[in-house]
Amino acid sequence: MLISQLAGVGKDSAARFAELGVSTAEDLLEYFPHRYEDLRFPTAAAQLGATDGEENAVGRIVRVRERRARLAIVEADIEDATGAFTAKWFGRSYLVGALKPGMELFVRGRVTRTFSGASMNVTTHKILENSQAFRGEIVPVYPASKTLTSRKIRQVVARNLTRLLELAVDPLPRHLARRFAFDDVRDAYAAIHAPRDLDTAVQARRRFIFTEFLGLALAAALKRNTRVQAERAAALSRPGDLTERLESAVSFSLTNAQRRVLDEIWADMARDVPMNRLLQGDVGSGKTLVAAGAILMAALNGKQSALMAPTEILASQHAEKLAPLLLPFGIAVESVLGSQGSRSRSSAVGRLASGEAALAIGTHALLTEGVDFARLGLVVIDEQHRFGVEQRARLRAKGLWPHTLHMTATPIPRTLAQTVYADLDVSTIDELPPGRTPIDTFVIRRARLPLAYEFVERNAKAGRQAYVVAPAIEESEFDLTSVVALEEELRRGKFADLRVGLLHGKLTPREKEGVMQRFVRGGIDVLVATTVVEVGVDVPNATVMLVLDAQRYGLAQLHQLRGRVGRGAARSYCVLVAPDDAPELERLSILAQTTDGFVIAEEDLRLRGPGEFAGTAQSGVANFRHADLVRDFSVYSEARAAAEAIVRDDPELKAAQHAPLRALLDEPSARAMLMSS
Ligand code: ADP
Ligand code: MG
Repeated sequence: MLISQLAGVGKDSAARFAELGVSTAEDLLEYFPHRYEDLRFPTAAAQLGATDGEENAVGRIVRVRERRARLAIVEADIEDATGAFTAKWFGRSYLVGALKPGMELFVRGRVTRTFSGASMNVTTHKILENSQAFRGEIVPVYPASKTLTSRKIRQVVARNLTRLLELAVDPLPRHLARRFAFDDVRDAYAAIHAPRDLDTAVQARRRFIFTEFLGLALAAALKRNTRVQAERAAALSRPGDLTERLESAVSFSLTNAQRRVLDEIWADMARDVPMNRLLQGDVGSGKTLVAAGAILMAALNGKQSALMAPTEILASQHAEKLAPLLLPFGIAVESVLGSQGSRSRSSAVGRLASGEAALAIGTHALLTEGVDFARLGLVVIDEQHRFGVEQRARLRAKGLWPHTLHMTATPIPRTLAQTVYADLDVSTIDELPPGRTPIDTFVIRRARLPLAYEFVERNAKAGRQAYVVAPAIEESEFDLTSVVALEEELRRGKFADLRVGLLHGKLTPREKEGVMQRFVRGGIDVLVATTVVEVGVDVPNATVMLVLDAQRYGLAQLHQLRGRVGRGAARSYCVLVAPDDAPELERLSILAQTTDGFVIAEEDLRLRGPGEFAGTAQSGVANFRHADLVRDFSVYSEARAAAEAIVRDDPELKAAQHAPLRALLDEPSARAMLMSS
């Protein structure tokens, strides 16, 4: 039913509702208040002012007057059986005529108490007609827009509530509603939009949060079930001495964390269910070697591997790092890159098609641009959280269900790992190889920036390189530092003797690669860049990371940026600069206190919510209407257990009682889950 069919909604307000994403009556039913004002309990005049929040009072007007200040102030003295107080309205002089001594009045607002008595800044009032008894209520407050007030939304909902409630459908099977003691769905909607008391409203909201989470959890369980039941990978055999063989190729022993995650990965690959595992570990934790271990097991079983990175530079770096690790096992690396000459590319492609080459490294183009593999057994995806349904379909069309390993250096908090990544198994490297010098991190105010520049300059004169990161590309209205302007300023001024480079997302991929290559080869001393360097390359000679307007970034993102330095033997530094007046130094100081990516990620999630996590916002999986992953995580756990039980009993949701559940799979977060790998 279109929203315009509701009473009290004309063409104009329909358009305003549409701007809030409410086009139908069903949408309106799902448009929940974000808080409630409790107008039920008037406080006695003598008791007013005991709390910081808003208070209600009911009394008789004794006197009304108007004072002229910069803003007109209307004041009314009001008394009840216990005492008197003054109610004040700002900028509403028309009230002088409307409020008359003798009237009964309901008022609500913040109260301050001074020697001359209690005084209330009124936000809401109501004249009680003909000594009408005060009947307080709970008033829902809706997220509003400039052109559509919460009051208007409330009126439309209230006028049409009966019709709206008739539209309610319950996607929850009866047994679940009963098990969790949820109200009937109509009662629950009524409790949200017109609550009798706040407890019922909170209980009702839990029902909808549960329902929303159930959609995501079902999607994850169905996907996992399909993989386990219907997809068949090659079960690879695992030699008993694989760890020792791998260790023999390097000059150090594996960390315990590396051993543990390799065991998890190798166990997956030994099954005929395709592996779908996420390997997470901080920058420098040694993921490359773990990837090499997976590739080795595939190769020992005569299977090919494909490793995909987000950019060509990263792909080349993987190739450089993996080649020496795999050479002792006779595994040659075939790079398949767009920048490659067509001759060498076609010979690489030929060796992959014949099965002669055991490992291909490239960008996503590896799977999409007609590269054929004779015996593909393993796909490793670096820093690409979500590898879409399309790529998977392409492989499947070739009759392939390879084992898949996703690698990320962005630690994912437990809550996200179990929700947004619920369809993946997660392995975590929570330990760095021994002997690392921690990066020194400083948080400074903008006033001290010149000192930081001097530090960068000294660093460059000592033959080292530095990154200077800023948030905006060009000058913008938000007063953020622009890399284009900054690069010019530094190149002509402070760093006139140095070689300064510029890197940002508006450059063509070719230009970007060119700049990056020059930096990698040491042809640039100071690289001024946006966060495109975040998931960047490995430049061991870069030892300073200077971040301007650091308050603009999430902690996890800053941690990522910091990971660009400290990749060589030399001591490295990270300097975070925030404006002099930013109240942010405290948040940023967490980075100076710890280098543990998981601690930082949890803190970031708590402070900024899941949308800020790399890959999470884009994936759409955390796209909820009512639920909040962090706040409501315990509800998610219940929903997940319920979803797993349902899918175990009825993997196709065929049972009549499960039919309504299918609608939940159309919700944005469930769809995003089903569409991703
Ligand atoms: P990541 O990919 O997780 O950022 P890398 O795999 O690039 O980390 O490893 C970082 C560095 O640590 C590399 O130089 C690698 O050779 C080294 N390394 C890896 N594992 C160990 C280990 N167990 N002991 C010592 N050094 C290690
Ligand atoms: Mg790496």
